[in-house]
Amino acid sequence: MSTARARRHRRSREAALTVTVLFAAKPESWADYAAPLRAAFAEEGLDAALVTEAAPETVDYIVYAPSSGLEDFHPFTRLKAVLNLWAGVEDVVGNPTLTVPLARMVDDAGLTQGMVEWVTGHVLRHHLGMDRHILGQDGVWRRGAPPLATERRVTILGLGALGAACGQALARLGFPVTGWSRSPKRIEGIDARSGADGLAAALARADILVLLLPLTTETENLVDAARLAELPEGAVLINPGRGALIDDTALLAALDAGHLAHATLDVFRTEPLPPEHPFWAHPKVTVTPHIASETRPASAARVIAANIRRAEAGAPLHHLVDRARGY
Ligand code: NDP
Repeated sequence: MSTARARRHRRSREAALTVTVLFAAKPESWADYAAPLRAAFAEEGLDAALVTEAAPETVDYIVYAPSSGLEDFHPFTRLKAVLNLWAGVEDVVGNPTLTVPLARMVDDAGLTQGMVEWVTGHVLRHHLGMDRHILGQDGVWRRGAPPLATERRVTILGLGALGAACGQALARLGFPVTGWSRSPKRIEGIDARSGADGLAAALARADILVLLLPLTTETENLVDAARLAELPEGAVLINPGRGALIDDTALLAALDAGHLAHATLDVFRTEPLPPEHPFWAHPKVTVTPHIASETRPASAARVIAANIRRAEAGAPLHHLVDRARGY
């Protein structure tokens, strides 16, 4: 018997669990998630009723995205936990009606892998100076090879699921990687810093700065004029974290003054980014439409099912959000 089949068999012999799971996201997401979630629940031996509508008092778990419009959790009197479909929780973490545990999405095979690819690609674009050849082909034979990765320092603010994985991928390519997080860490391949002194040191060596912090009251506007001034001359900023981590006016000023060479931005204070926003037309800004990485239904469904199974077994949920910290 294959390992997966043996696991299914063992679980099917365990007491059947009957839980009601409400899928509360944009209606059009249901088509993508219904089959993967059903398969993942079956794989976990969960006898789950997966629904898009239910009497609130019958619901045990909510698979949640704020775009569902669901804001009042009070009527869900039997609710045991909410499992957020996205990694960022800034739109739900402060909801006073949500009093049960909240888990965010951490999915190495999908969301994390996608972010590693996006960040690595954009770091390499700037490191190798790809634009010069892709956009500037003018019949002139200009020599000058790019430096090696070992000569380009990358700093990642945020060393969580995404920041640590991106940092380690870049370190494997040879980039000297410095990281910064709230709590001190040891991560192979990354010079991990924390605290105010750690931030100053991390910024000072950021030839390329990548933001993978969550948006909280502490991180909002963290990258302001003073912090931008601490970056080396000619630094590049890459932000797949959240738009409000950056003071937009200060960023534009730093680009216009030539202190920063370029900013690649995936996330914005207002999304979609309004057509008249100066980022669109700025020659030193690349806008990508919040596509750095997204939750992938197949692998995310397995993460959700395994977490519900943990909760049903009385174990604490993985990837629990700390309400006080805001992430
Ligand atoms: P995690 O919660 O795993 O990691 C967050 C990291 O930020 C941790 O290392 C944490 O420190 C650090 N941090 C938080 N607050 C502070 C602070 N005040 N000072 C210093 N460090 C701080 O999150 P993920 O890695 O899963 O995701 C990061 C963010 O990426 C998400 O919140 C979301 O905004 C964004 N995202 C963007 C996507 C896109 O497509 N553009 C897709 C997915 C996510 P510590 O380790 O000490 O707790």
